[in-house]
Amino acid sequence: MITLALSKGRIFDDTQPLLQRMGVTVLDDPDTSRKLILATNRPDVRVVLVRATDVPTYVQYGGADLGVVGLDTLVEHRAEWSQGTAGGAAGNLLQPLDLKLARCRVSVAVRSDFDYAAAARRGARLKVATKYVAIAREFFAAKGMHVDLIKLYGSMELAPLTGLADAIVDLVSTGNTLKANGLVEVERIMDISARLVVNPAALKLKRETLRPLMDDFARAVQAQG
Ligand code: AMP
Repeated sequence: MITLALSKGRIFDDTQPLLQRMGVTVLDDPDTSRKLILATNRPDVRVVLVRATDVPTYVQYGGADLGVVGLDTLVEHRAEWSQGTAGGAAGNLLQPLDLKLARCRVSVAVRSDFDYAAAARRGARLKVATKYVAIAREFFAAKGMHVDLIKLYGSMELAPLTGLADAIVDLVSTGNTLKANGLVEVERIMDISARLVVNPAALKLKRETLRPLMDDFARAVQAQG
């Protein structure tokens, strides 16, 4: 049995056309079913639904053989893990494929009346709210900017509006959410897309079924153009 970890929402939805192209159909609808393990039309492939931030952990520890995760989540996971805060010993995570799905970017945004460039020039110490602490820390350190990072778990856009922070580091896709909240994007930190991650031990032990499935993913990505 091959277990594929997906998160509900954008990753699950965007992965479906790809799976269809591979001849894999998920038989339950996660929006109406409460099941966390979903069968597919292939008796040897099942899907487990986990939180986006838990996908790397599931795959790393072998709770799933492979998974689909945003590069943003993967980079943060790697940083936490290398600092020892993600806990325990586990195998590495192979990242064989850019699925070119759920594309967006990690950016810095501020209130439209905040002069970010002037603050940066002055060497002001900025308060930055984000759930991407590792990505933000590395970005501002590379720029030589001093920042106080404030870890949030959601609704980052609110932080500059309430005075909690001067800036946020968040995902931006169309920019509509920033605009609706009077915020502007001032720096693009990195481009993001969904990645296929694979447990290396599973690749050894289940090579005969896992390798063809990975090849199917690669072909389906090429077909989507
Ligand atoms: P947008 O208004 O299109 O710029 O989208 C921004 C909002 O959608 C933010 O709240 C982001 O956290 C979220 N978002 C955008 N792209 C993604 C993505 N690929 N995966 C998860 N969340 C996203």
